[in-house]
Amino acid sequence: MGKVLIIGAGGVATVAAHKVAQNTDVFTDIMIASRTKAKCDAIVKAIGNPNIKTAKVDADSVEELVKLLSDYKPDIVMNLALPYQDLTIMEACLQTGVNYLDTANYEPRDVAHFEYSWQWAFKERFEKAGLTAILGCGFDPGVSGVYTAYAAKHHFDEIQYLDIVDCNAGNHHKAFATNFNPEINIREITQKGQYYENGEWLETEPLEIHKPLTYPNIGPRESYLLHHEELESLVLNYPTIKRARFWMTFGQQYLTYLDVIQNLGMSRIDEITYEAPLADQPDKNVKVKIVPLQFLKAVLPNPQDLGANYEGETSIGCRIRGLKDGKERTYYVYNNCSHQEAYKETGMQGVSYTTGVPAMIGAMMFLKGLWKKPGVWNVENFDPDPFMEQLNKQGLPWHEVFDGDLEL
Ligand code: NDP
Repeated sequence: MGKVLIIGAGGVATVAAHKVAQNTDVFTDIMIASRTKAKCDAIVKAIGNPNIKTAKVDADSVEELVKLLSDYKPDIVMNLALPYQDLTIMEACLQTGVNYLDTANYEPRDVAHFEYSWQWAFKERFEKAGLTAILGCGFDPGVSGVYTAYAAKHHFDEIQYLDIVDCNAGNHHKAFATNFNPEINIREITQKGQYYENGEWLETEPLEIHKPLTYPNIGPRESYLLHHEELESLVLNYPTIKRARFWMTFGQQYLTYLDVIQNLGMSRIDEITYEAPLADQPDKNVKVKIVPLQFLKAVLPNPQDLGANYEGETSIGCRIRGLKDGKERTYYVYNNCSHQEAYKETGMQGVSYTTGVPAMIGAMMFLKGLWKKPGVWNVENFDPDPFMEQLNKQGLPWHEVFDGDLEL
């Protein structure tokens, strides 16, 4: 049915590649391209399908991307590299007539700030080119938006209160590790919190607001209010929303480490000058510029290596309150994902799995012609039903609770 190019070869890309390779009726040609080609080759070896092609590309370079896209001519690019590459990949897609999908919105390297404006600015150009761009198609953002669209379509006349709740109750037996790219993850968590209420965005200190929430099959976990990108599009697409918030669980040990990292200055994203010996002349020192957070990433455990010893589950869902037929109702839709099951299937832990599977489903929706409309869209702008059906088939089954206590 279609040709897909996966960019990136990290945890999320590894899962997406496994799932794409499992759905050969839809994905007839597959290429994985990343900065380090050896990592793409390792994924192909793990999947065991020598027909999957690999290539080296620096996705910061529009020129290199244009060359790769012109040579391979994919129908859609799945951008599973880092948020820094979103704009260059979108630009290259426009120049070569290729459709686009990603899982995280653009962030400039020098400011820890994410918002959709940079990518929404491409809307008219994608429309004119007749190309589809699907933004934020992981779990959150991604399934969180699809769940909301499904709730709006089937269970509510008016969504009024939306709380996205994200719990990782897994244990990887490391003192401190992040579940996806450490640099992106720590930038996100150390930012100020933000939520939407009565038409306004309200700011909090980082992790200032928290409360215990009870997760299915897990129990109560302290959950912290963070700003998360899907809130920005959801409040625009569902204007009846009075309040929208995002909550994520953290263990006490994780927070203590994070505090120390921040107090030591290791989460800084500005450049510092550091004097180090030259690799090939150790008696000679040179001054180099390093970004402390990037250095920290180099010494922290690689999220891709956590899978083997990861136990427990993630539980991510939407808790919604609103009106149906003039009456108030509550609705909770969620998925629990086992780290061990994810590892058995793909060699990666649950957080990569819950992101890579929806990315594959999004590309599948596009290739099947179900999510195809020129422009730049968030997932809730498409029909949620076929996506929800695939979630059940592709390893992320969902469950619903009607009129329960949302705790929020
Ligand atoms: P990783 O760091 O494991 O992987 C990123 C990959 O991108 C690496 O293979 C890296 O190459 C490659 N890469 C980085 N820069 C470039 C470049 N300039 N050119 C080509 N390739 C490049 O990250 P994850 O797999 O954990 O995360 C991938 C994405 O998924 C991120 O954007 C993250 O924010 C997003 N995400 C979304 C979630 C959601 O639910 N929506 C949840 C979790 C993550 P190399 O191997 O050489 O370093």
